[in-house]
Amino acid sequence: MSTATRYQNVRSQLDQECERAGRASSDVLLLAVSKTVDVDSVAEAISAGAHAFGENRPDELMRKKAAFPNEQWHFIGNIQSRRIKDIVSAADLIHSVCKLEHLAKIDAQAKAQGKRQAILLEVNVSGEESKSGFSPEQMPQVLRSAAALENIELKGLMTMAPRSDALAIEETFGGLAKLRDELSAFIAENGWDMTLSELSMGMSEDWPRAVRYGSTIVRVGRAIFDPAFD
Ligand SMILES: *Cc1c(COP(=O)(O)O)cnc(C)c1O
Repeated sequence: MSTATRYQNVRSQLDQECERAGRASSDVLLLAVSKTVDVDSVAEAISAGAHAFGENRPDELMRKKAAFPNEQWHFIGNIQSRRIKDIVSAADLIHSVCKLEHLAKIDAQAKAQGKRQAILLEVNVSGEESKSGFSPEQMPQVLRSAAALENIELKGLMTMAPRSDALAIEETFGGLAKLRDELSAFIAENGWDMTLSELSMGMSEDWPRAVRYGSTIVRVGRAIFDPAFD
């Protein structure tokens, strides 16, 4: 099977899953995570209808964005302070903000580059030690910080499910959706100008479950780009 065919298969499964969940297929963005492949595979995915790609290294993000400047490029990787300038220069959306100091630095870089940077806040819902992300308890304070930064546009939350049984995965996705609702009430109480409309959750193995719990962005790598995945 080709990359184009795999992309089309995932997209049509996603459309079916949306229908089953009573959602419009335009509600869920299929982010093609191209971090393991080169520009030829990206071109193939574009020919099959892909227009949003995810990268986890700043250099690859910049290189592929330069090759395909008309597509959307999202940063989903670990953020290092010294690379924030590059990430901000190329990212349409940063999914993986999980440190307060990075929020301020992204704001400063966005200002310097004359843009308003769209971001998501990564939350460690499952509480696994090995996972990055803010704890749910930290989130009110993080939102307070984000609300004061004019060059950041907070659009929602991101999480990674544990590699575990179905129950633990569903608790993570359901937990992020519930946290979003609680935080939305907190935002309204404070009168802040932000809406947590995006939930970035679900990967190759677990995206159908994430759609049932309200995901608006599924981040799919191997199911699109890896011939060995099934
Ligand atoms: C690699 C990666 C993905 C895609 O994972 P697959 O299992 O290949 O679908 C999604 N999100 C993040 C943060 C990743 O690093």
